[in-house]
Amino acid sequence: MAPLPFRQSYAALPERFYANAPLSPAPAPKLIRLNHTLAEQLGLDAEWLASPEGVAMLSGSAMPEGVEPLSMAYAGHQFGSFNPHLGDGRALLLGDVQDAQGHVWEVQLKGSGPTPFSRRGDGRAVLGPVLREYVVSEAMHALGISTTRALAAVKTGMTVLRETMLPGAVLARVASSHIRVGTFQYFASRQDMAGLRLLADFAIARHYPQVALAPAPYLAFLQQVIEAQAKLIAQWMLVGFIHGVMNTDNMAVSGETIDYGPCAFMDQYDPNTVFSFIDERGRYAFTNQPTIALWNLTRLAEALLPLLSEDEEESVALAGQALEQFGGLFHGAYFAGLRAKLGLKTQQAGDETFFHALFAQMQEHHADFTNTFRSLSDERVITGEHVPDILEGMQPWLTQWRQRLMQEVEEAPAIRAENMRRVNPCYIPRNHLIEAMISAAVNNDDYTLFEEMLQLTASPYTEQADMARYAQPPQPEERVRYTFC
Ligand code: AMP
Ligand code: MG
Ligand code: MG
Repeated sequence: MAPLPFRQSYAALPERFYANAPLSPAPAPKLIRLNHTLAEQLGLDAEWLASPEGVAMLSGSAMPEGVEPLSMAYAGHQFGSFNPHLGDGRALLLGDVQDAQGHVWEVQLKGSGPTPFSRRGDGRAVLGPVLREYVVSEAMHALGISTTRALAAVKTGMTVLRETMLPGAVLARVASSHIRVGTFQYFASRQDMAGLRLLADFAIARHYPQVALAPAPYLAFLQQVIEAQAKLIAQWMLVGFIHGVMNTDNMAVSGETIDYGPCAFMDQYDPNTVFSFIDERGRYAFTNQPTIALWNLTRLAEALLPLLSEDEEESVALAGQALEQFGGLFHGAYFAGLRAKLGLKTQQAGDETFFHALFAQMQEHHADFTNTFRSLSDERVITGEHVPDILEGMQPWLTQWRQRLMQEVEEAPAIRAENMRRVNPCYIPRNHLIEAMISAAVNNDDYTLFEEMLQLTASPYTEQADMARYAQPPQPEERVRYTFC
């Protein structure tokens, strides 16, 4: 008997929405880590998940009775070129569960073997990227950023060919849904209007049930997705996160960060930072993320045009008006976030220039993104008693900042600093440490660093004794320029 309250809501949609994938048993499935807290939140039996039957399921080897996995169909623009036929080439949706608050969560396996959408791929995932996604997605969650979660990581016992032979692994991840901009493009590009409408109704019911009653529900849905993405990208920009592959098939309509591939947090501030080896032209560079998000949302709006109005011209006008909101929504969220990071509570003329001046200084001095903000979150820095090394070259800006603080409601520096430390993390999963963590796991089957990073990034705002090295940027020889996935 399966002690799993799984349903398969997506299977209620017509068969052209998905495909049933055959299972491919892993030779020697072994649990690396189970996220007990998350399992509990979802009402899943952690003990069962960690049992041989549970691990068989989590590795995609054998499903308990009643669990019928499916792979979702979708399309997408990859680096700007449209591919009408992508789909879950290495993912199995196990089903969905409802938590105690009534929220629905899907559980999906990534990397458990080929599916009808695999094309020439092997359907597999390898250990390094699985651990990276586990750590980074959980860190994002702890930072308060909307994201898919990691439920479990399993080693398959299989060797997978990449640039070299690497250990195979499967990630079990959790999302409020796996519906992407590309899922809408799939139906729109086939001119399958019935499918498009069914998908939109499903996404509305799952993510934005309040808009079902709006006078123009599909337009309201588009507006909701635009708003969710504007806020999400603002949050990425506030922590120096670079997604790396913002293809339209990697953008969820829920507003959750999804598909962690060659992603990374930036160390020294440079707006043009790119980590993905395949992103030769920097399409998905740090500073381009808001522009690309709007580009992707424009593709969503295009796909939704037939649902917005019966009159094509009117549809285009409505979509245009909705997309025009993105800039304001993004900047609103981003500037509000920057104010909080700098201990400011009021909005004032000249703030934008003032923020730009900080980033210009950070870029000029190759200052570490995370540590710049964290070092400002110090009572003695606020009062001017102390200037840490990282801020040494930014004296004129610091003077301006202190003057700007004086125009604020009076607040004791200690309190201001404490509030700033609540929004300026000291621990992010730094890329060079992730690489070290992956090497230890792949070469020595050693998960100490993995566990340590998970533990620290789970409380990103709280300094822990003897863990200073996790807050340090890489030494020049430790710097990781490219992330492969
Ligand atoms: P991604 O860029 O990882 O989001 O993936 C883009 C597309 O390639 C999706 O349709 C994936 O399912 C598919 N894909 C990625 N890796 C593999 C793989 N190893 N085997 C089969 N399909 C894959
Ligand atoms: Mg069906
Ligand atoms: Mg993807």
